[in-house]
Amino acid sequence: MLIKVCGLSEESEIAEIANSGVDMLGFIFHKASLRNLNYDESKGIFIRDLTSKKVGVFVNEEFDYVLQTGFYFQLTHIQLHGNESPEMVVALSCYFKVIKAFSIHSKFDFEVCDLYQSADLFLFDTKGDLPGGNGAQFDWELLDSYQGNTPFLLSGGIGKDDAEAIKKVNHPLFAGIDINSKFEITPGRKNIPEIMEFINDLNVSKPKTRKGYYGEFGGAYIPELLYNSVHELEIAFEEIKTNEEFRSKFKQLLRDYVGRPTPLYYSNKLSEKHSANIFLKREDLNHTGAHKINNTIGQILLAKEMGKTNIIAETGAGQHGVATATVCALMDMECTVFMGTVDMERQKPNVQRMKMLGAKVVAAESGSKTLKDATNEAIRYWINNPSSFYVIGSVVGPHPYPEMVAYFQSVISEEMRFQLQEKTQKMNPDIIVACVGGGSNAAGAFYHYLDEESVALYCVEAAGLGLDSGKSAATSHLGTTGIIHGSKSLVMQTDNGQIIEPHSISAGLDYPGIGPLHAHLIKSGRAKSIAVTDADALKAGLDLTRTEGIIPALESAHALAALDKIELKNKTVVVNLSGRGDKDLETYLAKLNLAENEIE
Ligand SMILES: *Cc1c(COP(=O)(O)O)cnc(C)c1O
Repeated sequence: MLIKVCGLSEESEIAEIANSGVDMLGFIFHKASLRNLNYDESKGIFIRDLTSKKVGVFVNEEFDYVLQTGFYFQLTHIQLHGNESPEMVVALSCYFKVIKAFSIHSKFDFEVCDLYQSADLFLFDTKGDLPGGNGAQFDWELLDSYQGNTPFLLSGGIGKDDAEAIKKVNHPLFAGIDINSKFEITPGRKNIPEIMEFINDLNVSKPKTRKGYYGEFGGAYIPELLYNSVHELEIAFEEIKTNEEFRSKFKQLLRDYVGRPTPLYYSNKLSEKHSANIFLKREDLNHTGAHKINNTIGQILLAKEMGKTNIIAETGAGQHGVATATVCALMDMECTVFMGTVDMERQKPNVQRMKMLGAKVVAAESGSKTLKDATNEAIRYWINNPSSFYVIGSVVGPHPYPEMVAYFQSVISEEMRFQLQEKTQKMNPDIIVACVGGGSNAAGAFYHYLDEESVALYCVEAAGLGLDSGKSAATSHLGTTGIIHGSKSLVMQTDNGQIIEPHSISAGLDYPGIGPLHAHLIKSGRAKSIAVTDADALKAGLDLTRTEGIIPALESAHALAALDKIELKNKTVVVNLSGRGDKDLETYLAKLNLAENEIE
């Protein structure tokens, strides 16, 4: 069944509906209509770029005007809603698919339809004062009199309670429905949740993979002012995915500049301890000391491709800021990093590093003066400076960021496959364990195994002082569905939707959200989530330091600590060691001194 939503005008709404599995988007070009599309150049660009079927609705307009408007917006369909002649339908059908609308009433003579055989579709609507959007239904039994050959859409006053009646329409040429005013908050503003629910009620059997969504999570919930920037990015990202030249530049930098592939190291000590085969994927050995640089190289290369010269980024602990400043130095980009003043105080060495690399560090003074406030500042700056390129550091933010960051990090599991093959003669491990702040290192480690059901995926979150302590960052345990930084995901929030301050000993996991991919993996049961306390992470980090001579980042130490909570016997396990612990020395040493004092 085709579903057409008519009378659209708001860009953010159009984008959401286009991504929702609706087949046809209807735009009304009729000044007398409350839903007339008021357009400007930017809306023109926006509509032209939509890949959905786009229907322009006209009422008794001149042929030339319809033709020009159709070309301007690159419409796929023209819907004629007035007393247009059969000749006009013939003429337009050389350029577009044509839908001819008829107002149905008890005296309507369906034989009139025979004159319009060159239309691709008919639309049977209710006769009202204004064409379209009258909100009234005609008697659907009248359809029995339609004996023509052209399929038709049913229109006029279809509302959310009509799903059952629609399912009963069994005319052989019934092709779908057209909905409009009954799904509106005010004329022209659609009630999207109701539309979704309605489509669901109709249980139209087609795969509903909405672009930019992972199950119910994801999307792009952004202010209209950012729409063009985000959309431009989406198009550019789509383009480079199949661009061999881009890929080879990216791969070369990962190899020669970052130092990839990172080793897959068999840990004797951990393997013995757990009676398993435990490998560490050594992302700590990347240039700048963590996985973050895989993504910054990808995004800044893309920015260059798009002709951008001005890069902005947010940072919490400063790792993403340093990775961004590093690549900006390499690629001659101007770099501005937003950082909360509290974090600037806590992470001084990273602030100094960014400055040394030539970046401007802007203090975010609002709210709790930490990562989420830095992100808010960065978004604000982006709105005012749309020509800049915003490099997001994790699989969070509006579509296409989660998909794009996962794509650039996917090199981690790409390497794991051939490294495991070499070391174990199998490409698949039994278990992959990774810490999750926003989720980018985990996304990279899981990427090529997402469809391999035999590979168990574990997301390790920071429990802080404990799940029930009020000082935690374990979003998948404590969060509920909400919007954070432009996407729908799990969020730690109060009943009123206020963000709850997270806490973790590791700055990289200290985030009140989680990427939409992970929210979906966990909710759907594909991945399991484990929460590890500050104390357990510290201990696991110190253990690895003393047994393997590797000082892990406190974030990665959470993943190590989770090994105690998983049944590992005889399994092949990969732990993604996301970064090195130099930045965490003070925290580790404080714990070590404490322990040694206790012993004395
Ligand atoms: C930033 C960071 C993390 C957390 O970010 P994700 O996007 O969840 O990977 C984990 N480990 C290290 C070393 C980091 O720097």
